[in-house]
Amino acid sequence: MKRILVILTGGTITMVRNHESGALRPADVETFKAFVPELFAGSVDIEMLPFNPLIDSSDVSPQNWARMAHTVADNYSKYDGFVVLHGTDTMSYSASALSFMLENLSKPVVFTGSQLPVGVLRSDAKENLLTAIEIAAATGNDGKPMVPEVTIFFEDSLFRANRATKKNAEHFEAFDSYNYPSLAKAGVHIQYRPHLIHYPQKQNAPLFVHTKTCTDVAILKLFPGINESVVRAVLNTEGLKGVVLETYGSGNAPSAQWLYKALKEATERGVIIVNKTQCSMGSVDMGQYEVARNLLKAGVLSGYDITTEALLTKMMTLFGESPDDIERVKHQLSVSICGEMTVVN
Ligand code: ASP
Repeated sequence: MKRILVILTGGTITMVRNHESGALRPADVETFKAFVPELFAGSVDIEMLPFNPLIDSSDVSPQNWARMAHTVADNYSKYDGFVVLHGTDTMSYSASALSFMLENLSKPVVFTGSQLPVGVLRSDAKENLLTAIEIAAATGNDGKPMVPEVTIFFEDSLFRANRATKKNAEHFEAFDSYNYPSLAKAGVHIQYRPHLIHYPQKQNAPLFVHTKTCTDVAILKLFPGINESVVRAVLNTEGLKGVVLETYGSGNAPSAQWLYKALKEATERGVIIVNKTQCSMGSVDMGQYEVARNLLKAGVLSGYDITTEALLTKMMTLFGESPDDIERVKHQLSVSICGEMTVVN
C-alpha cells in the first residue's frame, strides 16, 4: 500500500462555515476528515499533518515555505508522496518556491486547494484532494513515481508548479500554465504525459533542501507614464539585490534615456534585474526591438517565458543560498534549474 502524507497549511480547502455567523474558520483535522470519509476507505494509506495555525495563504511567508520544505524532507523516507493543502491565492508562489528548495526531488509533491470550503455541498475540495492523492501515489510500470516533481493539481489539470499561475478568483478552473502544457489531465482516467515531466537529473541522489531565502527583491511593473522618481525609488531601495522588471510584449520598455540610465546604474551597483513580460503567454526576446536592446545594454537579463511567481521565488532562494556570489546567481537565473523556463539561444 502506498503511503501519502497530506500536509494542511490552510486556505479555503481546510475551512468550514460557522452556521451561526456565516464566517469561514479553519477546521480541526477530525472535522476535516469527517467531510472526506472516502480518504480512508481507499487503497492508499493516508496520514494528515496540520500546521498550527492553519493560515489564509495571503499570510504565507518564506518561513512557511521553509517549514513546508522541511516537513517534506523530514518525512521523505517514510512516504511515497506528499500532498500540500494550501490557499489558492499564493499557491503558485509557495509551490514555485518549493520546486527550487527541494533539490534532487524524486517523489511527488502535489499542491492543491479549493474555491469552496470542504464542508459546502458543491465544493471542489473533495475531488481536488482525492485526485491529488491518486497522482501522488501513482507509479509507472517501473515502479517509480509518475510525477516526481512539485506540481499543482486543480479541477482537471496537473501543472508543473513553477509554470502555474492563479487565473480566476471565481471558477473552479482557477489555475493555468500558459507557457508549458499540463503534465496530466484527469477525466475518467488520469492521462499522464511522461515526455513533459521533469525527472531528477541525478539518479538516486539524496534530497537536498535549501531553505535560506532573501527578501531584498522587488517587482517593478512598467506602465505608460511611469516616472523617474518611482523607478528610482524602487531601484534605490536600501539593500536591494534583485528586481523582476515587468515589461511590455516581447520584453520592451520605454526608450527614455532616464530609464536606461537608472537601470544601468543599478546593474553596475550589482543589482540583478531580470526582464519578464507582462503578457501571460510568450517569451522575452531582447534582440527584436531597439527599445529592448537598450535593456540589454543596461545589463538586464532575459527571463524568457518564466512566470513572475517562479522568477521571484527563484531569485529569493538563489540570493538566500549565495548572498555574495552575484555571478553564480546571474548564471542560475539564465538557465532553467527544474523546468521553470524555456531558454532560447
Ligand atoms: N484566501 C484563500 C487563501 O488563499 C483563498 C483560497 O484558498 O482559495 O488562503
